[in-house]
Amino acid sequence: MAIIQSIVLPPSCLGSSHYELAIYRGDLEHPDAPGNKWHKLQHHIKAAKQQNATAIATFGGPFSNHLHAFGSTLASTPFKSIAVVRGELQPALSPTLKDLANNGVELWPSSRSDYRLGTDSEVTSMINVLYDNIYWIPEGGGGLLGALGCRDWAQEIDVLTKPHDAWVVSAGTGTTAAGLLAYSKTPMLHVVSALKGAQRQKDEILNQATNLNVECPITKEGPQKSLADNFVFHCEQHEGGYAKRSPALNEFMVEFANSNPDIPLDPVYTCKSMFGIFMAMEAGTWPHRRTLFIHTGGLQGWRGYSLDSNPFVAS
Ligand SMILES: *Cc1c(COP(=O)(O)O)cnc(C)c1O
Repeated sequence: MAIIQSIVLPPSCLGSSHYELAIYRGDLEHPDAPGNKWHKLQHHIKAAKQQNATAIATFGGPFSNHLHAFGSTLASTPFKSIAVVRGELQPALSPTLKDLANNGVELWPSSRSDYRLGTDSEVTSMINVLYDNIYWIPEGGGGLLGALGCRDWAQEIDVLTKPHDAWVVSAGTGTTAAGLLAYSKTPMLHVVSALKGAQRQKDEILNQATNLNVECPITKEGPQKSLADNFVFHCEQHEGGYAKRSPALNEFMVEFANSNPDIPLDPVYTCKSMFGIFMAMEAGTWPHRRTLFIHTGGLQGWRGYSLDSNPFVAS
């Protein structure tokens, strides 16, 4: 399947030749670890090698796309892999955690209150006592090194696609958005948050992108653009909050699956961003002609939902 495809727009937009929407199918990259999470891991793994770490550990929930990519990506490396999983041990492992176990990841359940303490938690100190020389990757594969991997990704996408007036990407932590924004040839970047109350994230993404280019300057590049002028942040598209879906969003997904049956969206992030753009295009308020939507993957996350809530299975 082609890595760049065009999206069939809603009937109300079809009469006009005004909008062209293409999608970069990041969900088709690296079959075992598709989407943005693979890219976020690359520089963390390099850093672990440089530190001569013997184990790499990280955090995530029982359906986490990050944990899933972590397990698959680490399976082909010599590192021991350890995951701290949010929530007490359940009688049955989630499909995501089963994949981790099959990839040889050691799973450590953690109470929600302890989990919240991150690397200050009790569970991480126990792990640090058991194994020495562990490299810890932040939840979601974030941090400057996570963003650096996404700046590399922006360059790869840029090389593969024809010029667009704008790119669209979904945000959770905002690390991916920061990395894409930091790349000098990224056109106007629209970032759509899947979280409720994410207003503050706008500055965080901008700061992270700016820091990234200070800490890891891009050499052999033209003059730097103003990052702030190249960035639009949308925080009103959460549809009830993280991992929640409104009836309107569900309805949109059914329509989208009907008109674009070969382009599955994930249930947490990309469905919301796509919904937002479709609404703006239907209203005629979307400000760009040629837009590229970056598919960040996450399709394995559907396994946390009932099959009949997934409009992309039957199609
Ligand atoms: C994790 C994830 C995101 C958000 O990435 P951040 O770097 O945390 O902003 C977006 N889309 C999908 C499918 C994801 O799994």
